Amino acid sequence: GIILGIETSCDDTGAAVVTTDRRVLGESLHSQLQIHLNHGGIIPPIARHLHEQNIGRIIREATDKANVSLEDIDAIATTVKPGLALSLLVGVKWGKDMCLKGEKPFIPIHHMEAHALTARMLENINFPYLVLLISGGHCLLAVAKGINDFLLLGRSIDDAPGEAFDKTARRLKLHNMDAGSSLSGGAAIEHYAKQGNPEAFQFPTPMYKYRDCNWSFAGLKFIALRHILREERKHGITRFYEVEGSDLVPSLPDICASFQHAVVMHLCKKIQRGMIYAEMKNLIPENNRILVVSGGVACNDYVKRGISIVCEEYGYKLVCPPKNLCTDNGVMIAWNGVEKWRENIDVVPHTELDTVDIEAKSPFGTDLQDE
Ligand code: ATP
Ligand code: FE
Repeated sequence: GIILGIETSCDDTGAAVVTTDRRVLGESLHSQLQIHLNHGGIIPPIARHLHEQNIGRIIREATDKANVSLEDIDAIATTVKPGLALSLLVGVKWGKDMCLKGEKPFIPIHHMEAHALTARMLENINFPYLVLLISGGHCLLAVAKGINDFLLLGRSIDDAPGEAFDKTARRLKLHNMDAGSSLSGGAAIEHYAKQGNPEAFQFPTPMYKYRDCNWSFAGLKFIALRHILREERKHGITRFYEVEGSDLVPSLPDICASFQHAVVMHLCKKIQRGMIYAEMKNLIPENNRILVVSGGVACNDYVKRGISIVCEEYGYKLVCPPKNLCTDNGVMIAWNGVEKWRENIDVVPHTELDTVDIEAKSPFGTDLQDE
């Protein structure tokens, strides 16, 4: 079978053609990152406009590279939730229009489930396995029990880690610095942290009294802000990066490194709790101890190193897709389409044109985030 996948849930317009035998025939991606960096964040109508401008070309590029026409495609998978409603609607409309035109089934995809399943395209991973999704909008620890069956163990009660990275980077004005100007907030912090001391600044341990697997990153973000304000006062500057004669205040890399370290420690402590819980409740068989980590924050090597230590201690194999499959992309949507198409799950014939309200039951939630 051949499945086309379409992704427009946030700020990336993605499309890909993937086969049931795990081959990526063609893919294309347009990132809006640079434009949103200039605006200081994502403005939904602008995101929608950019999706509308690019989606036709992106789908064409993916199918051209794959050398397939609409006729050759067996079904079209499209992200229907969660995400920005205005952005989602662009992809859903294109997906449904194409389904109508080609008389193809439409496969609704839950964006986070797609993140959770991508690893299965890359290697043989059987259910049930543990999965950690860390991105700009989410922080979830779950047991992947089946293509359509997830057990949620923990989540963030406030910010997602990527959001905390992005806001801290924003406050440090890393986007105004050479190396940071084309990177996401998280990637910019990782870059500057490399020259810093992770123990230079103190951060508390969030939620240490709770024995569950939930996270909280808002507190770490506020502590980072307090450190930044204090340093600014100490150096008599209002803008952290503008010190006479140099771009970099000595403590900027230290703040990045310490903040990143605190995020990793917090992530790891709760992963550890999740592993203990999974063992207690016999959720993961001993011969299948696998932790899949994905989402944009999984691009971070310091994060991966920290998590790999926990995995080693508890006998888990750590599987992390390559960076381009950890951040948003069309391939993961097409792959989730393959998995559902093979099993005949949620493969509904096309009905009406303008509804996003397709039931894809998921413990990861169905909320549309929009302002
Ligand atoms: P979601 O999947 O929850 O809808 P999203 O659309 O923001 O969120 P992703 O593309 O998966 O999805 O992730 C982007 C996030 O990943 C941003 O917050 C970004 O700062 C973060 N990120 C990217 N690279 C790194 C890195 N090297 N270190 C830390 N964070 C990173
Ligand atoms: Fe994502």
